[in-house]
Order: sequence, then C-alpha cells, then structure tokens
Amino acid sequence: MGLRGGPGRLWHRGRRALRGRRAWVWAAALLAALVVFPTVASAYHVALGLALLADVAMASAWTLFSGPTRYLSLAAAAFYGVGAYVTALLGARAAWPAPIVAGAAAGALLSLPVGLLALRLRGPYFAILTFGLSELVRHTVIWYESNVTGTVGRVLVLPLERRTLYWGLLVIAVAAVASAILVRRSRWGLALAAIGGDEERAEVLGIRPTGVKVAVFALSAGLMGATGAAIAPRWTYLDPHIAFNPLISFQVIIMALLGGVGRPAGPVVGALFLGLLSEVFLLQFRYLYMIVLGSVLILVVLGLPHGLMGWRAEARTEELGRRLRWAIARRIPRRFAMRRQYQLFVDGEWQDVPGRRTFPDVNPATGETFTRIAAADAAMARRAVEAAERARAEWGELLPAVRAGIVLKAAQIWERRSDDLQRMLTTETGAVRAKTGFEVGYCTELIRQAAALTYQASGEVAPSNVAGKINYFMRKPVGVVSVISPWNFPYILTLRAVAPALALGNAVVLKPSEETPLAGGLLVGEVFEEAGVPPGVLNVITCARSEVAEVGDVMVTHPAVGVVSFTGSTATGRVLAEKAGRHLKRIVLELGGKSPIIVLEDADLDLAVSAAAFGGFFHQGQICMAATRIIVEHSLAGALASQLVDKLGTLKMGDPSDPQTAIGPITSPTQLEKIQAHVDDAVAKGAKVLIGGHRRGPYFEPTLLTGVTPQMRCYHEETFGPVVALTAVKNADEAVRLANDTSYGLSAAIITRDPERGMALAGRIQSGIVHVNDSTVHDEPHAPFGGIKGSGLGRHGGRAAIEAFTEIRWVSLQTERRHYPFDR
Ligand code: NAD
Repeated sequence: MGLRGGPGRLWHRGRRALRGRRAWVWAAALLAALVVFPTVASAYHVALGLALLADVAMASAWTLFSGPTRYLSLAAAAFYGVGAYVTALLGARAAWPAPIVAGAAAGALLSLPVGLLALRLRGPYFAILTFGLSELVRHTVIWYESNVTGTVGRVLVLPLERRTLYWGLLVIAVAAVASAILVRRSRWGLALAAIGGDEERAEVLGIRPTGVKVAVFALSAGLMGATGAAIAPRWTYLDPHIAFNPLISFQVIIMALLGGVGRPAGPVVGALFLGLLSEVFLLQFRYLYMIVLGSVLILVVLGLPHGLMGWRAEARTEELGRRLRWAIARRIPRRFAMRRQYQLFVDGEWQDVPGRRTFPDVNPATGETFTRIAAADAAMARRAVEAAERARAEWGELLPAVRAGIVLKAAQIWERRSDDLQRMLTTETGAVRAKTGFEVGYCTELIRQAAALTYQASGEVAPSNVAGKINYFMRKPVGVVSVISPWNFPYILTLRAVAPALALGNAVVLKPSEETPLAGGLLVGEVFEEAGVPPGVLNVITCARSEVAEVGDVMVTHPAVGVVSFTGSTATGRVLAEKAGRHLKRIVLELGGKSPIIVLEDADLDLAVSAAAFGGFFHQGQICMAATRIIVEHSLAGALASQLVDKLGTLKMGDPSDPQTAIGPITSPTQLEKIQAHVDDAVAKGAKVLIGGHRRGPYFEPTLLTGVTPQMRCYHEETFGPVVALTAVKNADEAVRLANDTSYGLSAAIITRDPERGMALAGRIQSGIVHVNDSTVHDEPHAPFGGIKGSGLGRHGGRAAIEAFTEIRWVSLQTERRHYPFDR
C-alpha cells in the first residue's frame, strides 16, 4: 500500500515523544500514585479505580484510533463482553493469566468471522449487526451458565488477588494507549487518520479497506477481549451479567463516537463520567435502570444515520452544540487557555530552549505581560531547519490525499477553536471583534483552499526535437520553506505561506514576529500538530527582538532551505533579499505599502466614505494594504472630507474586547511614537488636521490630514497607524500621477460609477492589486496577492503558491535508440 514505517521507526518516535522533561515528571507522578493507590484504598475503591482506569484507557485508545476504526471499535466493543464471559467461565478452573489470555483470544477470534461477514456493510449497519450477534452470544452464554455448567455466580468467588488484577489491568491500559500512540504516529496511522472513515477514499489512497478493517478489528477486539477479561472479576461484589451489555457497550459507543471527532478530552471525560455514573447506579438501583438507560442510548446513537458527527452538522443541533460548548467552556479550562509560559515546537516536540530563556508577550491594551515565550537562538534555529530537512522527503512523498486530509483536518480544528483563537488574538494584538472574526474565519477558508493545492501541482508533457523523446516538466516540492511573518494579521500572513507550503509537500520552519509569537506561530503549530502533521514537518521558532537577526540569518542562509517566504517591512525585506541573493535562494517578499484610493467625480459618495473609512482605519490602519492616501477630484473633495470626518467621529475607541469598539490599541509603544512623530512632522510642515492627531494612552485617534506634501515623512513613508492624507486633484490624470508617486505598489482602489473608465485607469496604476469600486483592503485565498516596486517580489495565494513553493524539473524519456555524433 505504499506506506512505510517499521518497528524501529515506531520505537524511535515513541522514545522521542517521551523525551520532554514534563512528560517524565507526569509519568513518574502517575506511576507513584498508581503504586500507592491499592495499598491505601478499600477493596471497593480499588475495583472502582480499575474500572475507571480501563474506561479511560479504552477511550484514549479509541480517540487515537479515530476515523475508519470508529465503527469497528463499536463492533469490537461487543466482544468485550465475550472476553469477559470466557474469563468468567474459565476463571473458576484455571490459574491467572490463563483466563485473561483466553478472553483476549476469544474476543479476537470471534471478531474475525464477524468482521469478514460484515465488511460489506457500512457504518452504523455494521455496528448494528455486530451488536446483535454479541447479544446472541451473551444470552447463549448466560443460558449455558445457568442450565449446563451452573457457573452463574461462580465469578463471585474468583480467586484472583486484587493487586494482581490491578497490575494486569494497568499493563493492558498502558499497552493500549502506547500502541495507539505509536500507530497514530506512524505513516500507516497517518493514512488511517486521513481516510476519516471514508472507504472510497481509502481505495483512492491505494489502501485496501478490507485489509485495514480486518487488522484493526482484530486488534481492537483482542484489546477489548483482554480488557473485558481483566475487568470481569471486579464484579465480585455484584451480579456479573448486569454489567456487560448494555452498560459497557453504550459507554464504548459514546467514547468511540466522540473519538471519531478526534479530541481526547471528550471521550476521556465522557468515560470517567459514565464510569462513575454506572458504578453509582449499579450500587443503588441495580441493573434494570441501566438496561433501560443503555438501550435508549444505543437506539438513539445507532438511529442516527451518519453517527454523531453527521448529526452534529445539522443546524438544529449546531445551535444546541454551541450552547453546550459555551456551558462547558465556562467550567472546564480549554486547551487554548492562556498558559504562563510557552515552549517552541521543533521536530514534533514542545521544548524549552537551553538555559530556559524566555521573552515577554505583552497585551497592547493593558501593557501587561500576559505570558512568556521561549527565546530561541541561532543554534535552535539550525536544529529546526535540520529537523525539517530530515522530515521533508517522507512528507513530500505522501499521497496527495493523505496530505490534503491532514490539512483539511487542520481547517476543521481551526474552525472548531475559532472562539479561542479570536480571544487570543485580541489579547496578543489588541484586535477588535470585527477584525478577529474576519481574520479567524478567513483562515479556515485559506487552509481549506491550500488543501486543494495538493492535487494542482501538475506539470506538462511537451514535444521534443529529438525523435522518440518525451519531455515531462514536473512540479516537485522545494524541500524546506522558511516562513517569516509580521504581527499585524498574524494568522493570515502566517497561514497563507505555511498551509500551501505544507500542502504542496514541503517541510516548514516558521518564525513569527516577536510581537505575536502565539498567533503568528505557536497556535498554528498546535493546530497542525493536532491535525497529525508528522514530527519535523512544521517547526515553530520564537525569539526575542535581540535574536531576530541571527535566527533570521539561519532561516535564510542554511543550505537546506529552498525558499524563503517573508512578509514584513520593506527595510527588513531588502536585508533578507540581499542575503538570499548571496546564497542563491529563492525569496518571496510581501512588503509595505502606501495604497491610494482614487475617488472620481462621478463616484457614489456614500461608498467612497465607507471604503475610505474601512480601508484607512480598520485595525487602526496597521495593514499593508491600508488606504493611507485618498486622492479625490476637486468637485467632491469638500463633501467627502466632511462626511468622512463625521464617520470617524462615530468610531468607538477603547477596550478591544468590547464588541462595540471599532478602534483598538496600537500594537506597541514604539509604533505609537512613530505614528505621533509622523503626524507632528506633517503638522510642523503645514499639514492640517481635520480630525484626531493625538495618542490617548495605548490608542491613537483616527486622524485625517489635508495639505500633505512630498516634504513630509508621511507622504513617502509607511505610517502604519490610523493616519490618512486626503488630497484634492484637478482630474483623473493627476490622480493617477499622484497615486504612482510612491516607491510602493501593493494595492489601490478606484471609486467611480463608470466601470469601464475604472478598469482603464486601473491598468495605469503601478500596483500589484487594484480594486474598482471597493476598498484597498481586500484579499481572497485563491487570488495572487503581492506588490510591485518596493512592495515586494513574487505572489502568495492560489496558483501563485504553486509557483512559490514548488520547482519545475525537466525529466525526459527516450523511447528509441538515439544516435549521437560519436556514433558511427
Ligand atoms: P518587520 O519587517 O519589522 O518584521 C517582519 C518579520 O521579520 C518579523 O517576524 C520580524 O521578527 C522579522 N525580522 C525582522 N528583522 C529580521 C532580520 N534581520 N532577519 C530575519 N527576520 C527579521 O515588520 P513588522 O513590523 O512585523 O510588520 C509590519 C510591516 O509589514 C509593514 O511594513 C507592513 O506593510 C508589512 N506587511 C506587508 C504585508 C504584505 O502582504 N505585503 C502584509 C502585512 C504587513
């Protein structure tokens, strides 16, 4: 099936997964607690502990085996009871571990014929059939026990010593989780996750679903049989039959279905909750209630045609789900809850840097350091590039559907976590609600669109001047891509390079801005890690301002790096371009802008005011495409200025977490000073302030200037704040001349009621992007985004990403004997 792995690799990865110091501390503490527990707890509590441990182990295993194994797990669950019964029958006669081994074997063996029988059935029908069969087996065994062997109740006096049992179970639990982790981390596991339960896709991937089904079915049934067998004797204080089906089975159903969603927390918490509930119910009310409750749940779950996941997608339940999530979120800390310190992500591990150096991450609205971030140096950057270099070949060779599956899963996780992602963005960058909503939502589409690129890196078959030769021009991943991103739209500007570069088969080393190490880097790392990107394929290096140059140097000049994707200021871009040139590296540069909006005299004034307000002041003007220059024909200038001033006066400035706020804080004190300096310089040289002009704490008032001339800094330089210059011109020609009078050329807009004239003028503007009857601030995931002149080189987005992150190779095939000049 074209997948490689092998035990050596799995062992190596398993060891690497445990290498983090924290993992050892947790593992040691857990082991100590588990050793002490049976010596201090009562028999009942040990039994309860065993049951819960088993539930959690099963839930963890199923979570990791999500996707195609979801329904197989359901079916295997049925044999949980079988294993337990075999143990119960043998338990009275044979010594440990024979009953457990026999139980496991029985579970696995019985599952195979059923599995083979049911292979043609899909999803829930497969589960229903196997559950029905299991019920048959269960009742037969009960009948046999009651009427033939008379062993009912024998299990009550099983001679197993509870500590032996405890350790037996512990070993099984650890083995279950460890094997699940190892399989998940292997390429085979990756493929399993990518199939996502869809057998047709499995076939497309070249993976025979039948083989996978049989293997996974036998494995999980064996696991179940062993676990069931090991737990059977815990019912020494209860009637053994009440606990099998439906109680255990419905726990398993819920765990497995939740497991299909791929989040460990849900199934594990669910297992704990249901385990506790069942114990309490069993002790208090006996089995009748459990059978009723269990049966209802089984009916509900199996009655859903597409399982819980399909059900969740329906609008009615989506609302319910949202409310539930909200209720849970208020009580349980979420994974994206802010931590006190963040590690960086290299070679699939979250790590501290040597010496545990960190730098502060500051909330611009409050000035508080809300967390600290690992501060890498050049050596760490080299480790990241080397990890990427090791990982790239295997990743690049994966089938497109497998890579697309992982990238799509990242989009799904991104969408699911959008509330958290928005909250973090506000904390780290001071972004207002409208901006966080837009940015996070846009990224879901961006990642989805990137997934589609896996199928689009196509080449050409070309004619040849040599008889019998076929020329192939093929696209191949470049290998390692360095991504350096800025702070202003950290999610988008990071993901627009990272997602396509990964989808196209490259490994990535990402360095976010030191102002946004979380949004621009570490959170992206978390999402892709959860989606199943293998170790080393995505590495996130965070560093303090003082180390940026040395880290950046490695990211550009390291021999393993094939392409650099940089988004940031023109000044930094020039430095990096020089370095890249010296080392003959390809570099895509998305740099600064000084974007104009041209408002012609026939323009819709209302549209012009709205487009100018949004373009100039959204995210406090801290956007590369910001409309910092409004160039308007004389006849409309007065009305436009006064209506824009009125509009800016209504924009609420302040706490970015308040949904009413339109203008949030400026990202840093340095940036605030720069904006104030630009305004003061303009005023000193004769510009007039129509509104604003001052900083207020961490905020800067929306500012509209007139009379800005080439002698002023803000005429040429990027202010990167809420400062816009309005200039009246005689006619469209003068407007075009002024629009082009800049060293930048990123975005531009023309507002006119005459679309043809607008399109004609667009062709005369020196800019990578021109929008007619829209603002300058606009991007779409599939559009070729980028600037000319001082605004950059190369493009991001859609097919442009294929140009950026792949290279073309010429391979030819000579089909008939070629004759060379030296031939006689
Ligand atoms: P910046 O140039 O200061 O930093 C951008 C990135 O480069 C950061 O990650 C930074 O750490 C890194 N960096 C800085 N010096 C480096 C060095 N010597 N070697 C390697 N990396 C280095 O820019 P910024 O202040 O983060 O962002 C604002 C700028 O980005 C503005 O000029 C804006 O117009 C531009 N920008 C452009 C686009 C676009 O698509 N064209 C988009 C957003 C922002």
